[in-house]
Amino acid sequence: MTTNKNNLTTSWGAPVGDNQNSMTAGSRGPTLIQDVHLLEKLAHFNRERVPERVVHAKGAGAHGYFEVTNDVSKYTKAKFLSEVGKRTPLFVRFSTVAGENGSADSVRDPRGFAVKFYTEEGNYDLVGNNTPVFFIRDAIKFPDFIHTQKRHPVTHLKNPDAVWDFWSLSPESLHQVTILMSDRGIPATYRHMHGFGSHTFKWVNAEGEGVWIKYHFKTEQGIKNLTEEVGTKIAGENPDYHTQDLYEAIEKGDFPAWKLYVQIMPLEDADTYRFDPFDVTKVWSQKDYPLIEVGRMVLNRNPENYFAEVEQATFSPGTLVPGIEPSPDKMLQGRLFAYADAHRYRVGANHNSLPINRPKAEVHHYQRDGQMRFDSNGGGSVYYEPNSFGGPQESPENKTTAYPVSGSADSTAYDHNDHYTQAGDLYRLLSEEERTRLVSNIVGSMKPVTKDEIKLRQIQHFYKADPEYGTRVAQGLGLSVPQEV
Ligand code: NDP
Repeated sequence: MTTNKNNLTTSWGAPVGDNQNSMTAGSRGPTLIQDVHLLEKLAHFNRERVPERVVHAKGAGAHGYFEVTNDVSKYTKAKFLSEVGKRTPLFVRFSTVAGENGSADSVRDPRGFAVKFYTEEGNYDLVGNNTPVFFIRDAIKFPDFIHTQKRHPVTHLKNPDAVWDFWSLSPESLHQVTILMSDRGIPATYRHMHGFGSHTFKWVNAEGEGVWIKYHFKTEQGIKNLTEEVGTKIAGENPDYHTQDLYEAIEKGDFPAWKLYVQIMPLEDADTYRFDPFDVTKVWSQKDYPLIEVGRMVLNRNPENYFAEVEQATFSPGTLVPGIEPSPDKMLQGRLFAYADAHRYRVGANHNSLPINRPKAEVHHYQRDGQMRFDSNGGGSVYYEPNSFGGPQESPENKTTAYPVSGSADSTAYDHNDHYTQAGDLYRLLSEEERTRLVSNIVGSMKPVTKDEIKLRQIQHFYKADPEYGTRVAQGLGLSVPQEV
């Protein structure tokens, strides 16, 4: 007997006789374990959640395309960037960082800006933020840093002591803290913010010649931000404000777009630049390395299913294609492991086979089995390499380019510690009104800190960036202004 199209079925396809009443012994029960439809319903419901992302849990996504608008083929052999006018489909996920899935959108927090390009040579993920720098520059500090952004183990509350204690003891965070506390710390929507690759990457051309690059997505909607007061109000009235805004804009055909630019640094400059260009707490001055246009990203299609697409999307900075390579940035090096590892834990070892992550390019490899292997698992094809059965083989022209290294294997700090110049440059670039709001946001955030020692240590950092900056924060907190430092 075939199942009628309108028949409700179990997950194994059998028609369900009753979906309103559980099967009981007599009309009052107890309920019978032989009601396997009931058991399956309850058991599946218990398993509806995959582990929440530890960071970037709350997000929104959209489909779109990337179109090359400038010839960059002399810098990279990546095929999706090979000619002007070429279009590549993509999926983007925007997110907040510290809040749980379900937390408010309009809070002061960096925003994730993750793009998956479905290129003909495999997927390329550009997994950045709306800020050009980061709080720390060595992945070994990342779990500690994120603990300070999360909840206290006893109170389960956010903890300003931990936040400012860590930042004040990690002065490399000062630049990013200044951006976070500035107007751009609460974007008005996901559409009204820039995106940055933040790390340095290497582009390699067809001749094997490399350059260091940094990515900048500039919003065509213009930068718009929310003040602390408005952000707080919206967080109460509509915690899903950014999620709703993105969905509704695309639904009504108001497709958001960003121009992609790169800064390009010759490889040899990395040895002589005035600081380590792989340090992710620093920007490269655009006066030294101006922005070069690459293309345009347009988001024009909403997901059809939030869980299948946005929740199951897995981005990793290690998802690279020929012509794009990592740099020795120590934060990036840690992320190359941690992101894919998070997805193996969260969605499973076969996460790249899920429809949203599956490359549009053909996939040929020798990975087999594992949980949720819902494709043909390679069928009967050869399952090891090397082999004599015509299985897929490496292509030496796609090897990562060689990079000379020297020195001792050691736990080594970055050898420059000017955490102040660029944070100060940013402060000095702000208008008087922007400075006033920056200081007010910092003072509001630091006021609940219980130890003056922490506040004074942090004020010293602001002061070193710019004496006016430190003085105004100190005054706002009612503390003494540091002497010349
Ligand atoms: P430039 O004048 O060449 O670049 C200034 C950059 O600052 C532009 O990208 C601009 O982006 C951005 N900017 C302008 N107003 C603000 C603001 N209110 N808040 C945050 N960013 C703003 O100078 P430099 O390259 O020498 O950089 C000076 C400072 O600018 C840096 O210390 C850094 O803090 C900040 N910055 C630098 C970036 C870089 O890649 N060099 C990128 C972003 C910030 P926009 O045109 O969109 O306003």
